[in-house]
Amino acid sequence: MMDRDIYPGLIRLHILHHAAEEAIFGLGMMEELRRHGYELSPGTLYPVLHRMEEKGYLSSRKVHVDGRIRRTYRATRFGRNALKDAKVKVQELFGELFEEKRKRRAGRGDGR
Ligand SMILES: [Zn+2]
Repeated sequence: MMDRDIYPGLIRLHILHHAAEEAIFGLGMMEELRRHGYELSPGTLYPVLHRMEEKGYLSSRKVHVDGRIRRTYRATRFGRNALKDAKVKVQELFGELFEEKRKRRAGRGDGR
């Protein structure tokens, strides 16, 4: 199930991460996100990419592929910096999430 309130930020981080590593395009990113369990239609993903470009996180250009035009996206310097900052926060959050799990497990162990 897609949680519409929680996942958008995670999806944007995925996009930013991949666009920082290489040029991405809509359909390829859709497949990549599906691999991670996010089912996005083009009607959902394309506006996200567009909006991220508008906000300055991504820049796009048109390339010709097999006689068709494809829009590819790369992370801008602003986008890379945002990703760097977000990584610190994600790491903290992950630490806490998994710390919580360990504590619960430990607690259960002590209680018996
Ligand atoms: Zn990914």
